[in-house]
Amino acid sequence: MNTPADCKAILANISAYLDGELDSTACEAIDRHCQACPTCAALVNGLRDTIGLCREAASLPLPESVRQRAQDSVRHLLNRELRKG
Ligand SMILES: [Zn+2]
Repeated sequence: MNTPADCKAILANISAYLDGELDSTACEAIDRHCQACPTCAALVNGLRDTIGLCREAASLPLPESVRQRAQDSVRHLLNRELRKG
């Protein structure tokens, strides 16, 4: 069962990932959450296509434009979740 608070935590983790700070424990938490949360699953799937979320991940620096775009989508969703609640 997911709550908006869970989503906020996940989105904050994704944000940390974009800063190169996400570890494998956080990746697993995201995976688990996404199995029950279509909103976050859609976001993560989109980011995974774009930047390879949770794969070889943090070792690879992201091109600035990709990183910027990904951060924008995370921020957008995060704001939406915050307004919800
Ligand atoms: Zn969620």
